[in-house]
Amino acid sequence: MLKRPPAWVGFLIGGMLFVALYLWLPDNVYGMLGWDAVAVAGAVAIAVGIRRNRPEGAAAWWLLMAGQLANVTGDIIYFLTPDGDEVFHPYDVSYLLGYVLQGAGVLFLLRRRGAGRDWATLVDSMIITSAFALLSWVFLMKPVAAEASLGLGGQMMAIAYPAFDLLLVAMVAWLLTADGSRNIAFFLVATYMVAFLVGDYFWAFANQTSYDPGTLGGRLIDCTYLAGYVALGAGALHPGMVEIGRPAGPQRAQPMTMHRLVLLTAATLIAPALLAWQAYSNGGRVLDAYAIVAGSVVMFLLVIARMTMLVRQVQAQAAVLADHADLLHEAAQRDPLTDLPNRRAWNAALPSALQHAARHRAPLTLAILDLDHFKAFNDTYGHQTGDRLLTEATAAWSANLRSADVLARYGGEEFVALLPGITAAEALDLLDRLRPLTPMGCTFSAGVATWDGVESGDELLGRADQALYRAKDAGRDRVVSDDVIVAA
Ligand code: GH3
Ligand code: MG
Ligand code: MG
Repeated sequence: MLKRPPAWVGFLIGGMLFVALYLWLPDNVYGMLGWDAVAVAGAVAIAVGIRRNRPEGAAAWWLLMAGQLANVTGDIIYFLTPDGDEVFHPYDVSYLLGYVLQGAGVLFLLRRRGAGRDWATLVDSMIITSAFALLSWVFLMKPVAAEASLGLGGQMMAIAYPAFDLLLVAMVAWLLTADGSRNIAFFLVATYMVAFLVGDYFWAFANQTSYDPGTLGGRLIDCTYLAGYVALGAGALHPGMVEIGRPAGPQRAQPMTMHRLVLLTAATLIAPALLAWQAYSNGGRVLDAYAIVAGSVVMFLLVIARMTMLVRQVQAQAAVLADHADLLHEAAQRDPLTDLPNRRAWNAALPSALQHAARHRAPLTLAILDLDHFKAFNDTYGHQTGDRLLTEATAAWSANLRSADVLARYGGEEFVALLPGITAAEALDLLDRLRPLTPMGCTFSAGVATWDGVESGDELLGRADQALYRAKDAGRDRVVSDDVIVAA
């Protein structure tokens, strides 16, 4: 058996079928009833959605619903009152209230999403809105501003609509560029806003250019609004609507994606395109020079603000990377168990110690230390105790070395020490003082060799290793120079 589709799917499909039907409704009271039925159903769907889904910050949704009801009220007044000559119509109040309520609703959602924390996205949406504002001024607002016959009140009324549309453009641009969950409900709400703006801008341009879309054309645009109402209702019914008003999570810089870059480029190119078009079509005269200058200045400043933010973001990331590189470098040089320099660090330290000794004509002695019977110690007390012995022994030895000495873990239970400025005999004394410091009753054997001034680091190490073998052979728990054996 087929499962019943979720409410939002039913509403979306049913609503869209009804919108298609509206295309064929007559242009009379039935047509109006059909229109209002869809619009009211959209508002009811929002109310049902709020009750069912119980979003946090439900006020945003109630505002959207109230805005839609204000639109419907405007439509009914529009239908019922004859269109006279007066400047100000009662339906204007309803329509303009609708914009304010819906704008406030979306602003609430944006605030809940934490969009206010992300300045870069705000600047992006301001760049897009500025481009719309320039077009809107040149094509929609300036012509009515220049129409003295409308009177001040009429001019203000005529400018109010494109101005409020700009407000919605700003909200859509912000909603679409800001971080936050983008589920089906989000796209349905965004569809509603875009559909509403498409309808508004279509009628605004048709009015300006006296373009008559014909009955079917007009109906098609009406259907755009209606489809928007249905989308908003379906969006409110969708369980994902609760996510729309939730914070976007930990703030992260929005990446400059390709489509964002294309959008911003297109927006900033509108001013020069308008300039070129006006100059071309008026024989070099630019009618809206000041508006284009103002629009360009605003957009340049916004772009520079955005650039500054990006540069800061890159600098902050570079600083974090540099810190990480330092930490990595430090970690790569250390043995994690004993925290001594590891073999990698040793490989770098030995040649520079040789160079230093050669430059200062100072003696340099190298020692290799190896714990005695450490395998047996591990077998008896376990590896963890073995590890502790390694840590404690190296800590005790290090505490008794000079700051210029380098003690490194060569591998396993073998350690190497660079002892600059002392001879083999002095090194034997030093290491003999270290031997009793080895904890847990353990001992070590060591081989010592003093650099002859010409041999390589490997050769010096090889001689110390030979001495270590001799110390082991001689019974362990002793220090041997490459030529002198010192008794335990
Ligand atoms: P000798 O006196 O001849 O040096 O005998 P030994 O047992 O110390 O020498 P051998 O090289 O046979 O064994 C070294 C042991 O050190 C074997 C290995 O299990 C142990 N070992 C190496 N690295 C570690 C470590 O990081 N932790 C622990 N617990 N044991 C280690
Ligand atoms: Mg050993
Ligand atoms: Mg060993």
